[in-house]
Amino acid sequence: MPKKYVFDFDEADYRNKRLFGGKGASLVQMAQLGLRVPPGFIITTEACKDFFGPKREEIAELEAQLARQPPPDVRDALITKLFSIIDSLDLPQGLWEEVVEHMKRLEDRTGRRFGDPKNPLLVSVRSGAAVSMPGMMDTVLNLGLNDETVKGLAEQTNNEWFAYDAYRRFINMFGRIVLNIDDKLFSKAWDDIKRKYGVKEDPQMPIEGLKEAVEIFKKIVAESRGAFPQDPWEQLKLAIKAVFRSWDSPRAIFYRIAEKITSDIADCTAVNVVTMVFGNMGWDSGTGVVFSRDVATGENRLYGEFLPVAQGEDVVAGIRTPMDIDEFKKRFPHLYEELYNGVKLLEKVNKDVQDVEFTVERGRLYFLQCRNAKMTPMARVKTAVDMAKEGIITKDEALMKVSPEHVLQLLYPRIDPKANARPIAKGLPASPGAVSGQLVFNPDDAVKWARDGKKVVLARVETKPDDVHGFYAAVGILTTRGGMTSHAAVVARAIGKPAVVGAEDAVVDEQNKVLRAGGLILKEGDWVTIDGNTGLVYPGVVPTLEPELIPELEELLRWADEVRRLGVRANADLPEDAAIARKFGAEGIGLLRIERMFRKPERLDLLRRIILAENREERIKHLEQLYRMLKEDFKAIFEIMDGLPVVVRLIDPPLHEFLPKPEEVLQQICEGRMSGKDVSSLERLYNRLKALQEANPMLGHRGVRVGVSYPEVYYYLTKAIAEAASELKKEGRNPVVEIMIPQVSDVREIKYVKEKGIMPALRDVEESSGVKLDIKIGTMIETVRAALTVEKIAREVDFISFGTNDLTQAVFSFSRDDAENKFIPQYLDLKILDADPFETLDPEGVAKLVEQASRSAKEANPAIEVGVCGEHGGEPKSISLFSRMKIDYVSASPFRVPLARLAAAQAAIASSKRE
Ligand code: ADP
Ligand code: MG
Ligand code: MG
Repeated sequence: MPKKYVFDFDEADYRNKRLFGGKGASLVQMAQLGLRVPPGFIITTEACKDFFGPKREEIAELEAQLARQPPPDVRDALITKLFSIIDSLDLPQGLWEEVVEHMKRLEDRTGRRFGDPKNPLLVSVRSGAAVSMPGMMDTVLNLGLNDETVKGLAEQTNNEWFAYDAYRRFINMFGRIVLNIDDKLFSKAWDDIKRKYGVKEDPQMPIEGLKEAVEIFKKIVAESRGAFPQDPWEQLKLAIKAVFRSWDSPRAIFYRIAEKITSDIADCTAVNVVTMVFGNMGWDSGTGVVFSRDVATGENRLYGEFLPVAQGEDVVAGIRTPMDIDEFKKRFPHLYEELYNGVKLLEKVNKDVQDVEFTVERGRLYFLQCRNAKMTPMARVKTAVDMAKEGIITKDEALMKVSPEHVLQLLYPRIDPKANARPIAKGLPASPGAVSGQLVFNPDDAVKWARDGKKVVLARVETKPDDVHGFYAAVGILTTRGGMTSHAAVVARAIGKPAVVGAEDAVVDEQNKVLRAGGLILKEGDWVTIDGNTGLVYPGVVPTLEPELIPELEELLRWADEVRRLGVRANADLPEDAAIARKFGAEGIGLLRIERMFRKPERLDLLRRIILAENREERIKHLEQLYRMLKEDFKAIFEIMDGLPVVVRLIDPPLHEFLPKPEEVLQQICEGRMSGKDVSSLERLYNRLKALQEANPMLGHRGVRVGVSYPEVYYYLTKAIAEAASELKKEGRNPVVEIMIPQVSDVREIKYVKEKGIMPALRDVEESSGVKLDIKIGTMIETVRAALTVEKIAREVDFISFGTNDLTQAVFSFSRDDAENKFIPQYLDLKILDADPFETLDPEGVAKLVEQASRSAKEANPAIEVGVCGEHGGEPKSISLFSRMKIDYVSASPFRVPLARLAAAQAAIASSKRE
């Protein structure tokens, strides 16, 4: 039996988005809920897959080449080739017969006939994949019109203007989408006609102008592709193929890659054939988009736009300025009520904020699509919290709705009000965050500049879906036309880029690459700052402020804290960082790197003397000075973290990192000799530097190895820490301090430095101050051998913490800097690696080692505390892996602490579901 490819709205299962696509599923669901949906049917994604089937491999290869973002000319050649392959394909066996049969059913239901010169049925042919890819694929409206049916439509509706308006739209859309004709040809002709009749807005066009447009558009088609097809069935067949093809439009390919939409998430598009309803029949008709809550702020009120005498695509294209939904409510209170009830019903059953497309045809409301709305991170958080409080979803569901990236984006900088910057233009705050970048005026330039490491703001008059690669390359987007639901706004919000749209008092001249605003002329490469929170645009770079947690996020994170199992600490080295960490809810510091405290020049100088000292006495002399300086910093941090643990790591990096380069010293010697100076001390320095030079410093004399060679260094560092703690205790504070030994590979290293350096210091401080200190001593697990011998280590320490950066280097034998620059990108491309292991914990190798080692450690010493302090501790996928292991806490950079709290909660919820 042949496959069934086509389903009417009333026979499909709306839960099966993979098969029917999100748009199709939404039509089915709305119809089944009793909302008014024009009748139609769905051609499944399976049909699309079978359509591509015969050329699948070739297509995949071209897709992969396009994905690498080749230069524009190569790209265009690839697209031409891809499209010609697709155009050579036929519809899969049996599909057309099914389509014809379902069209007949549609004729019966509507009482109209497809191609009937008296009472024609018109349809839209719409794309729609399993996940929404806003504007990335194609749709054709008003299909079924030709020179005969247009007359029938005019007569039957008694509205010639409307019929010809629909016809000129159809030829234009069919030409652009199905026949691939450059839209500029049509838009230029249309502008000429508007000028000829002195018309500013489309609805004012006299009927003669519409008829003229129809003739001219047909000629444009004839000149580029041969006669415009008059046979509706041929139109339909071609449109179905074109919608299949639009799955592989370059922008769709690019969007899927950027959004990581792989074939297991969405594979090919469905095609929805829907009876047309007309928003362009007059002033009692129109088309709109509405959200069930405000997608910018999250406020619980309908939010949207309505455009009278218009069809769907007019709203998104920003051709005319629509009325807002409050105005709609005033003019059409009954329709508003029906819309409100429908939208809120959908919100309740779909358990999320809804984005709904609708059309009004002569006072009757039709629902044309619904989906879960994309919104600003702020709105995402607020609506999730509100919906949980309203009982629409549970707290756990609310936690699962907010992505960890949203949390990061919510910590976007704000413009510093004290900067007193003068804006030069104001638009709509379409996507939040304030950023500065250099101006570029087209998406290809944005990509090029970004490749050179520049931060760019992409300025356009308006954006088209084809610009999406430029969005990803830019740090922010600015347009002078378009509303909150314009393409630029929707996509910017979806991918979390700050954007200001519709800044009408600015002029973007894309041709000459200049922006004119507020009496200034900014050229390509000039800096601008855009503020997606307020819609303001500033010249130059405006200083920004550190973010705060908004109250809704605080509330959500409190819920996260109730369910998560993993603790969350921060990696912080300086008092400022510690303060941010605490503000963002860190439960302590999981890694304080002493090295950062040496950055101040006088300290660096002391440290150099210590390293270069030729004997113990000299070293101790300098250490005495240094430890007093460090003590003050420790006090500051312990005070901020009062009552919470702070893990201080003893000095770790290779010593050469603190020293001048031998070549530089050599040069100074040469210069000194030439000018007859005494260079003997420089010469001594040079010889010492040469003696300290190592072939492979990352694997050289560093970490605990330095502590073993020079126990007095560990003694004084410990003394600084211990005195800081004891002084605070005397002041009535509660410092909770842990000392961590880095780079250990054998338990005997720990025993040795404890005995020779750490314990004597602790004893000395306790004795001299009379304060009992309760300092835990632990080690980092970052060598493979430490991980493999962890039972022995665990019995010797109070805590361990996995340093997953170095551990990853060691497990892969990849040196991080070389790997990330040289070959990891290629490995990702070739799928030798699924992810950069320095970003996401390698689930098969490194994770296995951590898992085993953490289990062994707990078996050997049940009281032991186990943490993770590599950067993986702030990365959601890695957090979810850690959550399943015997790990007590992760430690992340301060700005990632809120994200880690949420990700840890999500991991806990996900694993409780699995059980
Ligand atoms: P997209 O995925 O780009 O939103 P759609 O298939 O949803 O494409 O259609 C584009 C626009 O055309 C939408 O605004 C939609 O509401 C409108 N539209 C689609 N089908 C019909 C129809 N049968 N009658 C009236 N308007 C329609
Ligand atoms: Mg749509
Ligand atoms: Mg390390």
